[in-house]
Amino acid sequence: MGMGMGKSEPETGTAKILVIDDEGDVGDIIVSTAQSMNLGCTATTNAADFLKALLPDVTLIMMDLAMPETDGIELLRLLGKKQCKAGIVLMSGFDRRVLETAEQLGRSLGLTAVGQLQKPFRLPELEDILRTHATCKAPEPSVQRLPIAIPEQDLRRAVERSEFVLFYQPQVEIATNRVVGLEGLVRWQHPERGLVFPDSFINRLEALDLIDQLGWIVIRRGLSEMAQFARRDGTPLTLSINVSARSLHDLEFPDKVLALVRQCAVPPRNMILEITESSLIRELSNALDILSRLRMKGMQLSIDDFGTGYAMMHQLRYVPATELKIDKTFVQEMNSKVDARVVVQKTIEIGHELGMRVLAEGVETVEQLEFLRTNHCDLAQGYYLSRPLPVPKLREWLENSPHAA
Ligand code: C2E
Ligand code: CA
Ligand code: CA
Repeated sequence: MGMGMGKSEPETGTAKILVIDDEGDVGDIIVSTAQSMNLGCTATTNAADFLKALLPDVTLIMMDLAMPETDGIELLRLLGKKQCKAGIVLMSGFDRRVLETAEQLGRSLGLTAVGQLQKPFRLPELEDILRTHATCKAPEPSVQRLPIAIPEQDLRRAVERSEFVLFYQPQVEIATNRVVGLEGLVRWQHPERGLVFPDSFINRLEALDLIDQLGWIVIRRGLSEMAQFARRDGTPLTLSINVSARSLHDLEFPDKVLALVRQCAVPPRNMILEITESSLIRELSNALDILSRLRMKGMQLSIDDFGTGYAMMHQLRYVPATELKIDKTFVQEMNSKVDARVVVQKTIEIGHELGMRVLAEGVETVEQLEFLRTNHCDLAQGYYLSRPLPVPKLREWLENSPHAA
């Protein structure tokens, strides 16, 4: 069990587990297992008791998705509204797909899904989850990539004073091995904490309705810094900027961006706005919600015209996109998992059929790059080519990298 009690507080003091499951037996098993591991644990069987027991010191929530009187999805939404910081383990007797859909929904609500427990579970599986997720101390900012809690006034000040910088990650055309564009990735230059990564503040800024302002800061900065970057043969590069789906509610958004693009003398075709598929789907309809609820009520779902990724692609058909970006999780699982390879291959095919160029992100190895080349993927982005770089480092990269010749 961890490193024992090296720190001042015993583990029972830091780990607080809260269970909600309409089957009292399940709760009992979890409580006794937790106790045997010296962890504090409370089990509830309905939403009212659960919410009463949901104190700020709860570090891990174990939630049954399917309960007759309480809708697990509704509860997730509620936790999202409360900006719940606890790790969440979803439990259900449904297949993994439902758990994964719900987990994705949880993430889109800003929750931290740390694991799944498929019922019926075996004791070692439960112990494993408790050991990894309940015995870790309250998240410490020392692990920089872990989302950290930031006071609201810090965030407001950051936006007011534009405490943000952009790192740029090169995008390389696979056929020619040459850089063709840059993605701007925001970082917060926090006066005390140093560099803070977007996972720690994007959701918060969205919740505080400050995301539009960040968007404008990023777009302005990206466009104005762009002028100094080009390939050594003089070819200008495209600029990709991440846009929050919320900004798409503003009917004047396109005009405002175009005005800035013109101001900076960037050809409009060199400006690429990235919108996540999940937020697109979320905006198009409440599909994720409805599908998982249908399944939780016991009905079955069939994905018609199935060809992995096609369900999502089907909606993307109506989006006038010019580029499809393959998520890094698929790229990284390509070597080990057949499903991931199929997803990547099919996404490339479908993207091309819909007239889009296809970019794979998260390319970390030469094997991944070669697999993508063989499958006619257009562009690659990832640590193998370059990490996201601050401006001076990017300038160096553009001067020295064979990809920038
Ligand atoms: P994203 O748009 O999917 O950006 C790609 C993320 O993958 C970046 O994380 C990048 O640093 C990381 N990455 C790139 N290559 C590799 C690789 O080879 N391996 C691995 N493991 N990771 C790689 P980052 O910079 O922390 O950004 C996280 C997310 O924050 C972005 O994901 C994007 O959704 C969001 N974001 C970043 N900048 C902005 C912004 O200006 N506005 C908005 N609304 N969101 C932003
Ligand atoms: Ca992106
Ligand atoms: Ca991505």
